[in-house]
Amino acid sequence: MGDNARFQDYGRRQFLRTVLSSAAVGVTGLAGIELASPAHVSAQTNLSPDEALQELLSGNQRFAANQLTSIQHDLSILKEKTVDKQEPFAAVLACADSRVPVELLFDQTIGHIFVTRVAGNIVTPEIIASLEYGVAVLGVEAILVLGHSNCGAVKAAMKTETVPGQISSLYTRLRQAVEQSHGNLDQAIEANAKVQAELLRTSSTVIRDAIKAGKLKVTAAVYHLATGKVTLS
Ligand SMILES: [Zn+2]
Repeated sequence: MGDNARFQDYGRRQFLRTVLSSAAVGVTGLAGIELASPAHVSAQTNLSPDEALQELLSGNQRFAANQLTSIQHDLSILKEKTVDKQEPFAAVLACADSRVPVELLFDQTIGHIFVTRVAGNIVTPEIIASLEYGVAVLGVEAILVLGHSNCGAVKAAMKTETVPGQISSLYTRLRQAVEQSHGNLDQAIEANAKVQAELLRTSSTVIRDAIKAGKLKVTAAVYHLATGKVTLS
């Protein structure tokens, strides 16, 4: 896609998003959830210590210095259009694993994808709430549940190892996939992506209604560390 086409596509998406977001507020109202008007939505994070923030800023500076043409173009759009609002076209539920840098592996940059991450890419109430926000307010059109090869959370759940703190709380949500895997890690990882995707489709009224209305698709996939490839499950 050329620069002009990308820019025009961005403008079209921005318009559609405004329309969809306005309509979506009514939907969330029906669901009994109080959400800010899209016009008042601002980027916020829960990221904690100053050191982590500094790491992010440093990483962002390195990212901005990348020589790839598409990334430079996206950043110029960002400066003009995305200071006060976000308009992601898709959401991703991925593992917290450091080897799964979601934006990078989908060749996306700031403002394009709404990413939730948790060890084992499991569906929790908080993950559902976050993704419902992405769907109902931001109007994302696809949710990808992304497992990855050699996932430590799935591996640990298969072994039901004794682990410190609250780590074992992950096991409960991974159990169904483990039971389907016949002891095979790759099968467990793929099964888990499918299980979590189906949970999203069925346990969230916002997501279920958006799917029913043809506005959303929820898909499971696996990212392969060795090849860098994502395959649909
Ligand atoms: Zn993992």
